[in-house]
Order: sequence, then C-alpha cells, then structure tokens
Amino acid sequence: MRAFRAPGRVNLIGDHTDYNDGFVLPLAIDRECVVRADPTTDGNVVARSKQLAGEVSVPADGSVDPAALTGWGRYVAGVVRVLAERGRPAAAIEATVSSTVPAGAGLSSSAALEVALALALCDAASFSLPPVELARACQEAEHIATGVPCGIMDQLTAVTGHADAALLIDCRTLAVDPVPLPQGVAVLVVHSGVTRSLDETRYAERRAECEEAATALGLASLRDASPDQVRAMPRARHVVSENARVLAASAALRVGAHGMLGELLSAGHASLRDDFEVSTPEVDALVTALEDAGALGARLTGAGFGGSVVALVGRRDAEDVAARAMARLRGETGLKPSAFVCRAAAAAGPLPEGSERRDHP
Ligand code: ADP
Ligand code: MG
Repeated sequence: MRAFRAPGRVNLIGDHTDYNDGFVLPLAIDRECVVRADPTTDGNVVARSKQLAGEVSVPADGSVDPAALTGWGRYVAGVVRVLAERGRPAAAIEATVSSTVPAGAGLSSSAALEVALALALCDAASFSLPPVELARACQEAEHIATGVPCGIMDQLTAVTGHADAALLIDCRTLAVDPVPLPQGVAVLVVHSGVTRSLDETRYAERRAECEEAATALGLASLRDASPDQVRAMPRARHVVSENARVLAASAALRVGAHGMLGELLSAGHASLRDDFEVSTPEVDALVTALEDAGALGARLTGAGFGGSVVALVGRRDAEDVAARAMARLRGETGLKPSAFVCRAAAAAGPLPEGSERRDHP
C-alpha cells in the first residue's frame, strides 16, 4: 500500500484575484488529506472516505462523466478523467481517503482531495506530471466535477507549499515566491460555524462580472487595470485594490511590519464585504470580534459566502484572542465557532517513510 498527502490552505490575502491573473498570498497548512491506495485488477478506481459516506467506483480509463455523479464521487471521477486525458494508463486502484481539512470551511479540502488522489493515481500507473501541470489538471477536474470555474490558487498551493513560509503567487506566470513567516506572530483560523454553501452560482457570477469589466475596459484581464480605470466599478475595484494589498502584504511580511500586515488584512475584508459582496453578517461579526479582541488584522479567507476567517495574532496572545472572539460570537449569534493556529506545511507528496501508519481521527 502506498500513501500520499496533500495539504489544505489558508489564504492570508488575495481572494478572487487568481482567476483575474492577479496575486495571492496563501500558505499550505498542517491539515491534510491522505490517500492510501492498493493496486487492483478489476479496471476500476474504487474509493472510500473516512469522513464521508458512500463508496465511489468509476472506470479507471476516465470514461465516466464526473457531472453524472453526486457528492464527493464527482471529484474522484474528475481527477480520473483529467489524468486519463493527459495519458495516464488506466491502472485500477482501491483507495481510502482520510482528511483533517474540514470540508466546506474555505480551507480547500477539495483541492487537497484532488491532489492527494491524483498523486496516488499517477503512482499506481507509473505516470507523472510536473507539479504545475498536476495543479492545472486538478483545477480542471474541479471545473468538470462541480461546474465551479475556480482559479488555480488552491491546487497550486497544495503542490508548492513550504514549511514556515507563505507563498506569493503570480497567477499570470504561476511563479511562486516563498515568503518566510515570522516566529512572533501566529496565523489563526476561526471557522464561523456557518458551513459555506459554496455558492456555485454566485462564484460563477462574480467571475463573469470580472470578465465583463475587463472586456469593457478593453483589457485581457483585470490584472492590467489601474485604480483610476475601476474607480466606479466595485467588483473590479476589489480586484485591483486586492492585488495591491497582496504585494504590500508580502513586502510587510518580509520586513516584519506586522502592524501594517494586519491593517492590510482588515482592509482586504472591507473590500470583500463592500465591493465584492461575498461576506455574510456572521463572518463580519467574527472579523470585528477578532479585531476587538486584539488581532492585528482579520479577514474572510477563501471564496466567501460563509466559511472561515484568518487572523494575524501575536503568538503569545493567539489562544486568548481566539477564546474571547469566539465567546462574543457565540453570545451574539448562537453559532458554534471553532479555531486553530496553523503552521505552514510542505508541498504534497508521498507520506514520509515510516509514517505509513499515520492516521486521522
Ligand atoms: P472547501 O474546498 O473549501 O473545503 P468545497 O465545497 O470546495 O469546500 O469542497 C468540499 C467538498 O470536497 C466536500 O463537499 C466533499 O465533496 C469533498 N471532500 C472534502 N473532504 C473530503 C473527505 N475527507 N472525503 C471525501 N470528500 C471530501
Ligand atoms: Mg474547494
């Protein structure tokens, strides 16, 4: 039996910029999906999940249309298909999925699943793709499985993660530049307790609005727009201002200007809330509670419409800030938030020797 892991991610800043050829600053986190696989001879890719019900079985040649499946089987069929299209021989496997990335929390459990499964499938067929091609293949798998036209950030972060560093990614060139994370501050993730309904329609709607704005300006993408050009266009204004914040945030991170970094995170949240309109009242309340409890900055992370908030907090204050903010949110809304401090993790790959038995709760 062989086992492969792929990390989830938290995006420090740069949301809804990846599909506009812009900049993002995520980190791969120490929450991961592990796929263990055995070769079989019946021609099928069979998978079970320790977290979710249902056994998935699809022909290993990719002949099943992922959109014909429901639930998490769509992702399995999607990955099998995109790899078959890239020349993976139809090697059959029986696989077990186990993940510590909470699903639907904005921490990219879907990309972690796709990438870990893709690595297991490639290994079983003695086939390989360069990491960036693997990320692109998994992005396409998500498109055909769910119909959501997601950007490249989640899958690219999973294949390029660095221990102890965030990743400044230029989504136009796909250049990845690790930016070391300082010891003195912690990256705190707080789930609001509202499971994100990855509002598939609204995500696609936002992406279409961005494309329309670029076309109206005669540009290939909003990456090329100036602040002046988008002054009266709220959606585009978010993308342009967010790209600038990502670059400023990575510069602040490099020089240890944590106060500045925190302010950029909070400004990013205001832009997602007011200009891009992808926040929710519960998430706004959580951001305010974290700021009032002493976070240097906080913002919605991921696509939005619920899910998680990322906060930058002095390392020694992290538990305290999380506890106070969650108590306030519970009191104000009756929600049941949860929090953890994350560390930046290495890129997806085989489970290290000797850790084959590593398991998830
Ligand atoms: P996110 O990527 O932010 O967690 P998505 O809606 O993009 O949210 O992806 C969540 C979906 O990924 C789940 O609904 C499920 O289909 C799939 N998934 C995530 N974790 C697992 C798991 N442990 N086992 C099976 N499927 C999973
Ligand atoms: Mg996802």
